[in-house]
Amino acid sequence: MGDSSPSRRRFLSLAAGTLAAAGAARFLLAPRTAQAAHGTIDPSTDGKLIRSVCEVCFWKCGIQGHVQGDRLLKIQGSPVHPLSNGKLCPRGAGGQGQSYDPDRLVKPLLRVGPRGSEEFKAVSWDEALGFIAAKLDDIKKKHGPEAVALFNHGAGASWFKHLLQAYGTANFGAPSFAQCRGPRDVAFDITFGAEPGSPEVLDISKSDCLVLIGSHLGENMHNTQVQDFAEFVARDGDLIVVDPRFSTAASKARTWMPIRPGTDTALLLAWLHVIVGEGRHNRAYVEAYTTGFDKLEEAVKAYTPEWAAAETGLDAEVIRNTARRIAGAQPAVLVHPGRHASWYGADDTHRERAIAILNAVLGSWGHRGGFFRPSGMKLAKFPTPAYPKAKPPADRVEGEAPFALEPLAQGLRRATLDGKPYPIKAWFVYGTNLIQSLPQRAETLKAIEALDLLVVCDLIPAEIAGYADVVLPEASYLERYDDLLGVSWHQSGVALRQPMIAPPGDAKPGWWIAKELATKLGLGAYFPWTDIESYLKERCRLSGIDFEALAREGFLPAPDKPTVVEDGLALTFATESKKIEIYSEKLAKAGFDPLPVFKRPVGPPPGYFRLLYGRAPAQTFGRTTNNRLLGELSHNDKLWLNAKVAADLGLTDGARVKLVNQDGIESAPIELKATERIRGDCVFMVHGWGHTAKGLKYASGKGADDSGLVSRVGTDPVMGGTGMRVNFVAIRKLEA
Ligand code: SF4
Repeated sequence: MGDSSPSRRRFLSLAAGTLAAAGAARFLLAPRTAQAAHGTIDPSTDGKLIRSVCEVCFWKCGIQGHVQGDRLLKIQGSPVHPLSNGKLCPRGAGGQGQSYDPDRLVKPLLRVGPRGSEEFKAVSWDEALGFIAAKLDDIKKKHGPEAVALFNHGAGASWFKHLLQAYGTANFGAPSFAQCRGPRDVAFDITFGAEPGSPEVLDISKSDCLVLIGSHLGENMHNTQVQDFAEFVARDGDLIVVDPRFSTAASKARTWMPIRPGTDTALLLAWLHVIVGEGRHNRAYVEAYTTGFDKLEEAVKAYTPEWAAAETGLDAEVIRNTARRIAGAQPAVLVHPGRHASWYGADDTHRERAIAILNAVLGSWGHRGGFFRPSGMKLAKFPTPAYPKAKPPADRVEGEAPFALEPLAQGLRRATLDGKPYPIKAWFVYGTNLIQSLPQRAETLKAIEALDLLVVCDLIPAEIAGYADVVLPEASYLERYDDLLGVSWHQSGVALRQPMIAPPGDAKPGWWIAKELATKLGLGAYFPWTDIESYLKERCRLSGIDFEALAREGFLPAPDKPTVVEDGLALTFATESKKIEIYSEKLAKAGFDPLPVFKRPVGPPPGYFRLLYGRAPAQTFGRTTNNRLLGELSHNDKLWLNAKVAADLGLTDGARVKLVNQDGIESAPIELKATERIRGDCVFMVHGWGHTAKGLKYASGKGADDSGLVSRVGTDPVMGGTGMRVNFVAIRKLEA
C-alpha cells in the first residue's frame, strides 16, 4: 500500500472507471470488511505479513495478508509476484469476504431429504468419508472405477484428481474447457502447436496495436492484463474494440466497431483479405515460420470488406482502414484471443483459427508487443506409485469432437444419462456450481437423478450442494496449503499458497480430505507423506527450491530466459510440420475445413433479442455473488437494452422486467438499463446472479440467472465446445 507510482495511478484510474457505475472506486484504495477492521498489522505485537496466492479466480495472483492474531485484516498484491506487481483486482482485494462468509459450510453433511431439497444432517468426517468410500467400493465392483467422474474448477482440485486417478478413472471434466476457453486453446494448438496460456501470454503493455474482439477487458478483470492494458492506454496505443456493446474497453478505443453478434469471423476474414491482398503481411516471418500461406492467399480473395460489411453491419471503409492500422503495427500487435470463446458452436474454432492466423501473418507470435513465450519452471514430482491403466474418458462416442484437448463436461453428463460409451454412476464436484456452470440445466438435473453418488466439495452451499448425497466443507484458499504452483510469465517461477488463518468449524483443506479418503479406499500408498508441509518440503528439495525462502517470499523466480525474439528467443513450434500451420492438414484429414470459414448464425426471431452475458469487475462466477464485501460494490445484475428499442417497447430505464427465452423459460426479475451503449438486436447481462439456494442467504433472490436461460447450445464439431449465445429472449415488463 502507499505506492503512488504512475503505473499504479493509471491502474486505479482504469479500474475505477470500470467500477464507477457501482460507486465502488473507493474499494480499490481501502478494502473493507464488516467482519474484520481493515488496517495494517502491528508487528510489535503478534502481527504477521503472510505471502500466498489468490484463488478468487484462476489467474493466481500473488497476495500478502495482514494477519493480526487470528484475524486477516486485509489482502494486498504481493510486490514480488509477477502476476500482481503489488496490486490486485477488486475481487482479490475483497477475497476475505469469501473466508468470513457467514454462510460457509462448516460441517460434513449427509443428505436426508430428496435430492434438491437441501435437507441434510451434520456428521463427522469419519462418517462422511466412510459413506463415500463404501459407495465408491460398491460402484467399482458393479461398474468399474471408470464409472466415477470429477467435475472441477481451481488449483485445489489437483488432490482429488490424483486420488481418482489412483482409483482408476480418467473422467475429469472441467466446465472451463468446453464451456469457455476450449475453441481458443484448440485453434491455437492446431496453428502454433501451443495454447495461448492461462494467464494468456500477451505482451499488451509493449504492444502498439491491440484488437479486442469480444473481450471486455477491464470488466473481465484479470489483474495483470488490466495493469498492462492501463500501460497500453497510457502510451496511447492504437486500441480497436469489436463488440456489440460499448464496453469500458470500448470507451478507451480509437475505434469501436459495434458488430452484429455472431459475425466476427467475417470481419477477421476481411481483415486478412486486406492485409494479405495488399501485401501488408510480415513477409519474412511468413516465409520463415509458416506453411500454407499460398492457400490462405487464394482463399481470402473472396472476403472483401464490402462482403463483410453486409454480414457484420460494419462500414467497409472502417474495415479496410482498421486492417491497415493493424498491419502497420506489426509485429508489436495483438489480436486478443479472448478467454470465453464458446459462443455459437459451429463457428467457434474457425473464429479462433482466424485470430491465430491473423496474428501469425503479422509475426506477433514470439515478438515483443505480441505473444511472448515463457519458459516456465520445471518442478519435480513427489514419487508415488504408477496409476492403474484407466479406460479412455466417457465424454465422447467414437468420431465425436476429435480435437478436444480435455474431456468435455457435458459429454460426461450425457454418458451419465445414456450410458454411452459406458455408464457414469458417481460425480465428484469440486469448486464448481454445475447448476450454473453447465448449460441446459434440465439435462444436468436429469443426470443427477440418475446418479448413485453425488459428492460436492466446496466452501458455500451453492445450488449443486443442494443435490448432493454428501457435502464436504473445504478450507478456503486463505486457510490452506495447495500444491506448488508453477508461474509462466515474463518472469517465470514457483509460488506457494499457504494458510493465513484457520478454517471455520470443521472445514478441512482439500489435501487432507483426499488423503483421508484415499486411506479409506485402500489407496494410502498414493499419499505417502504425513502432512502437507513434509510433502511440499520434499517436492521443493527434489526441485532444488529453498522451501523456507518460498514460504517467506511467496514466489521465487526461475533463472531468466529470453521470452521474445528481440532478446534471443529461438522460435520453435510443436506442430507436425514444426511450423505455424496456417493451412491445417490435420483438420483436412479429419474432414474439417483446413482454413477458417464463416458460418452465419441464425438471427433472433421477431420480438426476441440475442442473449449476451459477461463479467463485471467485482464479480467472477457464481462463487463471488455471496461475498458480502463484493456484493456491497456490485449490483451489476442489470439488463442492458438499447435505449431506442426500450422506448419502442414502452420500457424506461430502471423498469423491472423478466426475460422469457425461446423455450418458454422465465428468468427472475431484473432491472432494465436502457442505454445507447448496445446494439438493438441483443441484450446483455452479468453472469452469476439469480441464485436460488436457500443456504446462500446473501445472494439468493438477487438478480437474474443468465445460465438458466441457456436451454440451447450450438456444438462445435471440431472440439465439442458448447456455444451458448444461440439463445433468444423476449422482455416482459413487471409492475413496479
Ligand atoms: S485477477 Fe483478481 S481474483 Fe483473479 S487471482 Fe488475480 S487478484 Fe485474484
